[in-house]
Amino acid sequence: MPRITREPNNPTPKEWMAKDLSQKRIADYKPFNFVDGEGVRCSLYVSGCLFRCPGCYNVAAQDFRYGKPYTKELEDQIIEDLGQSYVQGLTLLGGEPFVNTQVCLSLCKRVRKEFGNTKDIWSWTGYSWDELMKESDDKLELLSLIDILVDGRFLQAKKDLSLQFRGSSNQRIIDVQKSLKEKKVVIWENLVK
Ligand code: SF4
Repeated sequence: MPRITREPNNPTPKEWMAKDLSQKRIADYKPFNFVDGEGVRCSLYVSGCLFRCPGCYNVAAQDFRYGKPYTKELEDQIIEDLGQSYVQGLTLLGGEPFVNTQVCLSLCKRVRKEFGNTKDIWSWTGYSWDELMKESDDKLELLSLIDILVDGRFLQAKKDLSLQFRGSSNQRIIDVQKSLKEKKVVIWENLVK
């Protein structure tokens, strides 16, 4: 009888490396949406995630080969969309952005180059903040470019659909820059619930 997995996978530090896993593919790109963070946002969904949380909101995007390749043309389009005055920023989701750092670093560096800090960057991740602190240089570099991180696996036992921007109560909305500076998790100041 096949074993039924009821918990997400738990990697050891540096076990999952983008250089070994990422196919540099994306599941979707959604410009001008209102749901993936604060304000109007352009959202990139990268392909591939090994956490395999039961109840994952985007099972198809767990496959690293799902979707289509990330291209220079798409990056140019995202930059053009972000240039609209009513767009607050970029959101990275998945799949798992931190095992697709080739894609996400390229895009985040370009956003900072073109817009400085006038556009914000949000990212979702299955890693907890503490796990990321023990992770590889590429993951930490990506983190350094992000403003707001929603951290942690989706846990069905802690599911709560009334929470802002997250599906289970273990997940946190973290102010990344303040947290890095203070060397401890600082929660987003606009958190309501
Ligand atoms: S971390 Fe997110 S994308 Fe990955 S399996 Fe869990 S819910 Fe799905």
